[in-house]
Amino acid sequence: MALEKPVPLPAAEASREEAYREQTLRRLQLTAVEMGVTAVLGTAVTLLVRLLIPNPEYVWLRVLLLPLTALFAYLITRAPTVRLYGAACMGTIATISFSSYLGALGTERPLMYFLPAAIIIVLTTSFFWVTLAQWVGGTGVCYAFFLPFVFDHTASRTDTVFSLLFAAMALVTGFVTYMRIQDYQRRAFDQAFQLEELSVTDTLTGARSRAEFLKQAETAAVKARITGASLTLLYIDIDHFKRLNDGHGHAAGDAVLRGLSDVLQHALRRSDVFGRLGGEEFCVLLPEQGEDNALALAERLRTLLAAIPRPDGRLTVSIGVASLRDGEPVMQTLHRADLAMLKAKQAGRDQVHLAD
Ligand code: GH3
Ligand code: MG
Ligand code: MG
Repeated sequence: MALEKPVPLPAAEASREEAYREQTLRRLQLTAVEMGVTAVLGTAVTLLVRLLIPNPEYVWLRVLLLPLTALFAYLITRAPTVRLYGAACMGTIATISFSSYLGALGTERPLMYFLPAAIIIVLTTSFFWVTLAQWVGGTGVCYAFFLPFVFDHTASRTDTVFSLLFAAMALVTGFVTYMRIQDYQRRAFDQAFQLEELSVTDTLTGARSRAEFLKQAETAAVKARITGASLTLLYIDIDHFKRLNDGHGHAAGDAVLRGLSDVLQHALRRSDVFGRLGGEEFCVLLPEQGEDNALALAERLRTLLAAIPRPDGRLTVSIGVASLRDGEPVMQTLHRADLAMLKAKQAGRDQVHLAD
């Protein structure tokens, strides 16, 4: 049935958070190609540099790690979810860090050899994490390969102190950068979200704007045709609204419009679409609802709306109900719902009529 409990706010918050993560993921993936290429080339260069130093170790293993880094970097651009994106990023970091670790083995000062990689990885990746857990994981993976050298007793005290100092600076700088980028991304998302909401919302009542409602009606009709599901429209018009404005002023009229909108928005399902077509005329789109359910819902809405205070008496509405027919343009269904509403007016108002 279309009448349900009001949707609790956390669900809306959760879906907004999901939208934020999804958008951030897609935006990051746009630049992930450059990051992947840099990761592979960077590792290849360190490998070549290492060949210049005597006794290069694990060269072939490091060469074999390169395609693995490239594979993880490719998966970054392809990951369908935030979680898999994080896993692919961490895989890339792990193979690069492991390669740097192998390269550092056998050098005279492994700490000093590994340190630039640790700093660069932590700083550059701070731009690419979607969640704090990912930042912690990615940084942790990189530093896990660094720690064995820190605890290496053969390292000089100067090297240990120096590298720890720089590793700590990279950690703090990386974290601050990550937080700033997060803040920036969230602000940009919130602004875009608010702008989009504003462009599709009727500012007085919070209902969908006329243009947005009609757009969603077209989309719902296409979906209904594909799935074979029902789709029903309610056309709602307040009775004698002009009389209220004329007798008590437009502010009283506006308050009633807002009251009606609040009641309807709380009574409808999340999948229903509620729009203001103009003046005191509203429309509800009921996906997957046939005429019987829609008629029952319309009757209940009429009862609910009667509870809204109106200075000159009881608030009544006339409602027309029409279901999408095979091959019928949805604008025609809307027109039939409008005609049914006019019939309800002619029959004495405060009632629901089914379209012919
Ligand atoms: P009926 O029962 O036949 O529907 O009569 P009615 O008075 O409701 O219909 P009519 O079309 O004559 O009047 C609609 C009124 O709605 C006229 C207009 O001033 C008023 N109106 C339109 N938009 C707004 C608005 O945003 N705020 C207020 N307060 N009034 C509005
Ligand atoms: Mg009216
Ligand atoms: Mg009207």
